Amino acid sequence: LEAHVVHAQKMEAINRIAGGIAHDFNNILAVIIGYGELMADALDGQPQLREDLDAMLEAAERAKTLVGQLLSFSRRQIQQRARLRLRAVLDGMRTMLARVLREDIELRFDYAPELGSVQADRGQLEQVVMNLLVNARDAMPEGGRIEVRARNVTLEDDLNEAWEPIPAGEYVMFTVSDTGVGMDKETRRRLFEPFFTTKEQGTGLGMSTVLGLVRQHEGTLEVDSAAGEGTRVSVYLPRCADALAEAEAEAAREGAVLG
Ligand code: ADP
Repeated sequence: LEAHVVHAQKMEAINRIAGGIAHDFNNILAVIIGYGELMADALDGQPQLREDLDAMLEAAERAKTLVGQLLSFSRRQIQQRARLRLRAVLDGMRTMLARVLREDIELRFDYAPELGSVQADRGQLEQVVMNLLVNARDAMPEGGRIEVRARNVTLEDDLNEAWEPIPAGEYVMFTVSDTGVGMDKETRRRLFEPFFTTKEQGTGLGMSTVLGLVRQHEGTLEVDSAAGEGTRVSVYLPRCADALAEAEAEAAREGAVLG
């Protein structure tokens, strides 16, 4: 077996164990916090004991936060999909995105006003955008510009050239492009390989996570990159039929029945 496959399998096992332990800890902490809160009510007349117990409860809450982070790191997380307006998701991330950038990087947004909705897990979608943005930043050590663009697209034919073929249909596409160092041929080829990195501090898990998440959402990715010129990564996600069109279709069906 290739080294990276073995490594990926190990990561997977570690993830699963960490996820399992975190899950059990979560239940244990719920018991501690539950009884602690009952005791706190009973200790109202004893300020010193109440203070001590509050300190314990605070520590338990911190542990709960930590366990939550571990759970969300482990890959076997449950997807919670909802119908989301892509525009609202991107807008909601602006502050967070601006925070991971440096002063010498300009961030631009450009989306079509009629931008549609997707059936997606918000946290996972944010993770995709965040990973792409961090990579764009890292590709521009001397500064530059990142553009996040989004629009609705209709694919007349199946898209087979992408990393995962997707069928013809209605999609929402968003693109993160940078004016950074770009990728050579070798890097482009190995981009989605788990643990492949050219960075000193890199994990090599960013793009493989992105691809995994996009696939889980029945979408795909396109990557254009030229060494010295920059990189453009486009994400396609199936678009939900818009509410107006749905209502019209419904009315037409009812009309057909009535008529
Ligand atoms: P990491 O960022 O930890 O290295 P990734 O899987 O996210 O892991 O990326 C793998 C490699 O792909 C990076 O080390 C880098 O060489 C290359 N890469 C990814 N995104 C870009 C980009 N926007 N511009 C240039 N190279 C990139």
